[in-house]
Amino acid sequence: MPLPEELLEQPLRTRFAPTPSGDLHLGGVSVALVSWLFARATGGRFIVRVDDLDAVRAIPGATDRILEDLRWLGLDWDEGPGPVESAELGSPFQSKRSELYARSLDELRRVTRIYPCDCSRAEIARVAAAPHPGEETVYPGTCRRRVEQKDAKRSSSLRIDLSGVAPLEVRDVLRGTSKQDILKQVGDFVLRRADGVYSYQLATAVDDAVMNVDLVVRGDDLLGSTPRQVHLQRLLGLRTPRYLHLPVILGPNNQRLAKRNGDSLTVRYFRGLGAAPREVLTLVAHGLRIVDSPAPVTHEELVQRIRRLRWEPPAKAYTLGPRR
Ligand SMILES: [Zn+2]
Repeated sequence: MPLPEELLEQPLRTRFAPTPSGDLHLGGVSVALVSWLFARATGGRFIVRVDDLDAVRAIPGATDRILEDLRWLGLDWDEGPGPVESAELGSPFQSKRSELYARSLDELRRVTRIYPCDCSRAEIARVAAAPHPGEETVYPGTCRRRVEQKDAKRSSSLRIDLSGVAPLEVRDVLRGTSKQDILKQVGDFVLRRADGVYSYQLATAVDDAVMNVDLVVRGDDLLGSTPRQVHLQRLLGLRTPRYLHLPVILGPNNQRLAKRNGDSLTVRYFRGLGAAPREVLTLVAHGLRIVDSPAPVTHEELVQRIRRLRWEPPAKAYTLGPRR
C-alpha cells in the first residue's frame, strides 16, 4: 500500500524515542531516518525524546552514545536534548515527566476505573489461556474487583478496567486499518508498575499527544500497542497522531536486532569499520526501498526521494547487513 499523498502536504512533527538500553542499531536508524525524512520533506519538526522511564533497563552512558550516533548520522533534531526544549515538548526525558503521567493517571481515575493488582507473571500465566505464538499473555481480570487504598502498606501495580470496551480500530498510513479487541487480546493492562514506574503505554500515549506529534514512526513490533495508546488518548481527551509502523530488520542470523544482542548491527560497529554516515543511511534506505540502489546518496537526495516517491517499504521483517 503506497503512502497517502496528502500525508506530505502539511508540515509534520515527528519523533524518535529511543530507550537507552544499548547502542543504536540499524533498526533504530531506520525508524529515526524515516521520522527525520518526513519532518524534513514537509518542513516540519523532528523531535528526539528519550524513553528512559525504566531505570532497570537503562545503561549508563547509553543516552549520550545514541545522541552522538544520531548527530554523526546527520539526523539533526529541532526539539529534544541539547538544542531546544520547546513549550510543547517540556523535558525530552521521560524520567523527568512523572508529574504529567501522575496527572494523567488522576484524570483516568475520574473517567474510568483503575485498580490495584499484585499478581505475578507466573500467576497470570497460570490462569490465562496459553497465548498464541507472537501474542501476549492475556491478563484475565483477576483483581478487577479490588479497590485502590489511599494508605496501602505496600504498593501494587495499577491496571485499567477495560470491561465493556469495544474492539478498537486503528489506522496505519501504510497498512490501513486493523482491529484489536484489547479486552480479549491483551486484558486490563498496567498503567503504573508496583515500583512506581509509569507504563510504556501510558507515558507514550500521553507524550505523543501533548508533544503534538503528527506522525509516529516505529517498528511493527509495537503495532499491537497502538490500540492501547489510542484508547488512553481517547479517555484523556487527547489527540491521536497518525501511525506508521515499519517492518523490523533482522540480523544475519535472522533474529531480531536486540540492543543487548552482541552481534547487533550497531552504528558503532559500522563506525568502527570506517563507514561514512551516508553509507549507513543508504544501507538502511535501500533496505526500506527508499532508494533502488545501495550506492550512497546524500541526505538531501533521500529527502527528495521521500517527497516524490510512491513509497512502499517491505511488508515483512527483512534481513540487512554485510554479507559474510
Ligand atoms: Zn492481580
